[in-house]
Amino acid sequence: MTDPVRHATVVGAGLAGAALAHVLVARGWRVDLLDAANGPARGASALPVGMLSPHVTRAPTPLSRMTSLGMAATRAELEARVPAGAGWQACEVHNRGHDPGVWPAALVRPGALVAAWIAAAQGTGRLTTRWHAPATRLVRQDGGWCVQDAQGQPLARSPVVAVTGAIGSLALLASSGLPAAWLPLRPVQGQMSLGEQLGPPLAGGPQRDNGVFVPDYADSGLPPDWPARIWSMGSTYERGATHTDIRNDAHHKNLQSLRALHPAGADAFEQAMTEGRLLGWAGVRCASLDRLPLCGALPDPAALEAEKARPDRRRWRPGPADTPRLPGLFTLCALGSRGLTLAAWCAQRLAEQMDNAAVQAEPDLWAAVDPARFAWRQGRRASA
Ligand SMILES: Cc1cc2nc3c(=O)[nH]c(=O)nc-3n(C[C@H](O)[C@H](O)[C@H](O)COP(=O)(O)OP(=O)(O)OC[C@H]3O[C@@H](n4cnc5c(N)ncnc54)[C@H](O)[C@@H]3O)c2cc1C
Repeated sequence: MTDPVRHATVVGAGLAGAALAHVLVARGWRVDLLDAANGPARGASALPVGMLSPHVTRAPTPLSRMTSLGMAATRAELEARVPAGAGWQACEVHNRGHDPGVWPAALVRPGALVAAWIAAAQGTGRLTTRWHAPATRLVRQDGGWCVQDAQGQPLARSPVVAVTGAIGSLALLASSGLPAAWLPLRPVQGQMSLGEQLGPPLAGGPQRDNGVFVPDYADSGLPPDWPARIWSMGSTYERGATHTDIRNDAHHKNLQSLRALHPAGADAFEQAMTEGRLLGWAGVRCASLDRLPLCGALPDPAALEAEKARPDRRRWRPGPADTPRLPGLFTLCALGSRGLTLAAWCAQRLAEQMDNAAVQAEPDLWAAVDPARFAWRQGRRASA
C-alpha cells in the first residue's frame, strides 16, 4: 500500500508530465497522469527530432548552469531507457553564430523518451493514464484537489496536483485563484522543415546559428507516415501564435536561415520544395517572461496578502523559504525551446520538493525557477 498522501494527479503528458510521473512513481508515489489529447506527447513533445544541447554563455547564467546539469540528466535517461537509433542518437553540434565551437549534443525524438518513462512507470503498477481528459478547473476539496472538466465533472481527486500542461497550465492554474500576473506564460509557435534523407549526409553533423540544421537523423521509431531517415531545418519563432498549420512562409524563413548556415543544404531544401517532397511539423512552445521554467510549489495569494498586511512585515521581501504556498499544488512548465535539456532535471528536483526531501540544486538556481518569483517581483514593484 502506498501512503495515501503520496498520490498525485499530473495534468499534461508531454516531456514535463511524463518525466515527473516517472520520477514520482520511482519514489513510491501513486500517480494519475491526464491529458486532453488522445495519448502522450501530442503537444510540443510530438516534435519529430529535437536537439539536446547545452546553452553556452561566456559567464554562467541560471540557464547555462541548468542546461549543463540537464544535459547529463537527460543523457542518462536516454542511455538507460531508449535504444540508440530508435529515438535518439549522440552527436556534436557546430555553433556558427554566437558562442562558436563544437559542443556535445544528441538528436532526440521526445515522444520516444516520453513513451519510455510512461512504460517504466506503468511497469510498477502505480501509474494510471487517462486521455481525452481536458482539465478546466482546480478546486480545493476535502484537504486535497479535485481536477474538473468544463462541465464540472471530476476527472481526478488527489492530495497533490502537478500542472505540467505547457501553455495550457495558465488557464488551469488561474482557475485555482492564482493571479494571471504571477503566471507570465506566452505561446511561441514554431515550424520545422524536413525531408527524406536520400543520399549521403550534406554535412558532418548538426550546424546551428539562426536555427539548427540536422543533416541526417535516422530513427526506426518515427511514425509510419514519416521517412525513417530525415534531414531537418528549424525552427521558426512566432511569439503569441498558437496554430499548428504548416505554412509556406515559415518554410521560406527556414530556407533563408539555412541559406546563411549551409548553402548546399539550402539547395537540397529548395529541390525538395520544388519536387513537392518537403515536409513540415509545427508546434507551440511555452515560454515564461524571463525564459526560465516554472518549477516548484505555487504561492498562496490569500496567505501572501495576509502576511504582507501584518504590521511587523512592513519591509518584508518574501523569498523561497518564507513564501506561503498552496498546499499540494505544484507546476513544471515553460520549458521554452529546451524541454529535452530541462524536463528530466527539473522533474527530479520537483519530485524531491514534493516528497519533502532536500532539493539537490544550488539554492540560487532553485530560486531562479521558483514559480513564486513573479509574485515576489510584483510585490517589490508595488512597494518601490
Ligand atoms: C518547432 C519546435 C522546435 C523545438 N525544438 C526543440 C529542440 O531542438 N530541443 C528542445 O529541447 N526542445 C525543442 N522544442 C521545445 C520542446 O518541444 C518543448 O520544450 C517540450 O516538448 C515541452 O514539453 P511540455 O511537456 O512542457 O509540453 P507539451 O509537450 O506541449 O505537453 C503539454 C501537454 O499538456 C496537455 N494539456 C495542456 N493543458 C491541459 C489541460 N488543461 N488538461 C489536460 N491536458 C492538458 C497538452 O495536451 C499536452 O499534451 C521545440 C518546440 C517546437 C515547437
